[in-house]
Amino acid sequence: MARALTSEARRGPRAAHAARGSPLAAPPGSTGSTEPHEGLFWESVGDRVRCFLCPHTCLIEEDDEGLCKARGVRRGRLVSLTYGRPATIISDEIEKKPLFHFHPGTRALSLGGYGCNVLCVGCQNWQISHANPRTETTRLPYLSPEDAVALARRYKLAGVAFTYNEPVVWVEYVHDVCQAFKAAGLYTAFITAGYLSETALDYIAPLLDAYKFDLKAPTAEGWAKLSKVKDPAPALASAVLAKERYGCHVEVVSNIVPELNDTDTDLIAMARWVRDALGPDTPWHITRFLPDFELSYLQPTPIKTLERGIALGRKEGLRFVYIGNVQGHPARNTVCPGCGRTAIQRGEHAIEAIWIKKGRCAACGENLGVIRAVD
Ligand code: SF4
Repeated sequence: MARALTSEARRGPRAAHAARGSPLAAPPGSTGSTEPHEGLFWESVGDRVRCFLCPHTCLIEEDDEGLCKARGVRRGRLVSLTYGRPATIISDEIEKKPLFHFHPGTRALSLGGYGCNVLCVGCQNWQISHANPRTETTRLPYLSPEDAVALARRYKLAGVAFTYNEPVVWVEYVHDVCQAFKAAGLYTAFITAGYLSETALDYIAPLLDAYKFDLKAPTAEGWAKLSKVKDPAPALASAVLAKERYGCHVEVVSNIVPELNDTDTDLIAMARWVRDALGPDTPWHITRFLPDFELSYLQPTPIKTLERGIALGRKEGLRFVYIGNVQGHPARNTVCPGCGRTAIQRGEHAIEAIWIKKGRCAACGENLGVIRAVD
């Protein structure tokens, strides 16, 4: 019989590192099928299967998994091993994603699963992104899309965010949950490195309200050093398509890692990409690297480096450049580029005060591109 579970019980010990928001007690739900969910985006190649959900295009043998570990081949068919089995179920501020111009001050149901197709060397959520769904997922209770909506309603959450691991790898579940949230009038947010095929983007993006894109480095070499992505072109294209083809609200994050993407040349090149590809009104978050996983030997990014990035980003014409992972820094606030007044004042994650009317500065009327359900 299904029973109500705390999120701690659902996550299990390996996922605890990722969960820093408020634990949720989920409503009783279906236990789900014990059969793996058949996936999309694959074809048979002899006695193997090619997955083309992402540009890795893994060729997978029977009873094996692809690079992301979240998709495998069973009885000649590609299956999603994590469909409906979130490893992390918590509520946290939308600012934590970070999304600063998207429903500020609201909380989202945050769902993360096992596996990842980007495999960043400095990953802060490696306990879930590098977990093996083959052995770990089966003990997680099933959360149906309808139960996810019920959970959001119960805790008065404004939407859902797929976060903590790369949402691409369980895109079928993300799709079904987003469909349920949209039908319920709640928002959807995809926190991603954008490494997916255009076909897959066409499948998921119509259901997304917000697309938070990780710009990892200014060059292909930089992406390869920081992740398993050798050619970032499909990832970069996905952010542009999400905005232009599907009208998603897009914000960009660059985690600034000492020695890997922290020179003035790097910062200027990333700022220029945001400006030229997505427009100068696109919020760019420069976050502080904190040592973890294979990069535990490095020091945290000096705050001066981040402040240099803010200055360079603004010099390149970006109107909203923010610092992340630095508590209480004034560059976490939204300052109106029109009149210079603070329009949104932020604490560690949550909003402390907001002076916005219909997406514009309440003082001078400048358009700040802030999406809100109410004004
Ligand atoms: S989604 Fe996973 S299995 Fe599919 S191509 Fe990408 S890494 Fe390989």
